[in-house]
Amino acid sequence: MTLPAYEPASDEVELFEHAWRNRLPVLIKGPTGVGKTRFVTHMAARLGLPLFSVACHDDLTAADLVGRHLVQNGQTVWQDGPLTRAVREGGICYLDEIVEARKDVTVVIHPLADHRRTLPLERTGELLAAPPEFMLVVSYNPGYQNFLKGLKPSTRQRFVALRFGFPDEAREIRILQRETGCDALLARRLVALGNAIRRLDGVDLEEVASTRLLVYAALLIRGGLPVLAACRAALVEALSDDAEVTAGLEELVRTVL
Ligand code: ADP
Repeated sequence: MTLPAYEPASDEVELFEHAWRNRLPVLIKGPTGVGKTRFVTHMAARLGLPLFSVACHDDLTAADLVGRHLVQNGQTVWQDGPLTRAVREGGICYLDEIVEARKDVTVVIHPLADHRRTLPLERTGELLAAPPEFMLVVSYNPGYQNFLKGLKPSTRQRFVALRFGFPDEAREIRILQRETGCDALLARRLVALGNAIRRLDGVDLEEVASTRLLVYAALLIRGGLPVLAACRAALVEALSDDAEVTAGLEELVRTVL
């Protein structure tokens, strides 16, 4: 089986494997679009484990993860949620953007994320013990963090933490080439543009250009779209709604590319 491609930054693959062997949960922090999800997908395949991914959002409750009773053909049946399935079947449960979820989610992950490795299912009265093949991985973006949404120390101190950042130039060029099949020149130019956007000072951007957006731009250009149109759609308009800011970004695209 071919592994989902992942271009490492340093020793994160080895670190993850150590965490896995020691049955420790992993927290990955970093901005959006820098390879957190790809890394987890890669590691699950590398370790031969099923992956149960959940994109957390502000309505996500513990019941969405654990499971709930459903009425089917007039009968009430219990249906496991993704976290329960990962515990029962063995595998990695990846909670993406964990801080977005409702607070009751912490209650269910705490006993799974420490030495107990258990999941109490209040509704069914079961207490599941996680098998060795179970691993909990969570990610969050410290950039979005506000006072209410930060991870509580009691939660974060249960995890081994990895920090992901924007790739350096050579690595990001390799990623773009491998992900999109674009040539080295286009990859180099797009990475230069990405870095120019990341260096912008005093511009009101909530998030700067991620590797994901550079991948999109490269795909559009490879597909035959003119460079400016591709960058406008994949980068400029994706990054801001403000007319002044988008005009400034477009100017930057013209200068760099
Ligand atoms: P995140 O989970 O951090 O928001 P993703 O893992 O979804 O980001 O990455 C977005 C895209 O960027 C991926 O689909 C992939 O094309 C590309 N990418 C980013 N980092 C890497 C990397 N290290 N190796 C391979 N592809 C990467």
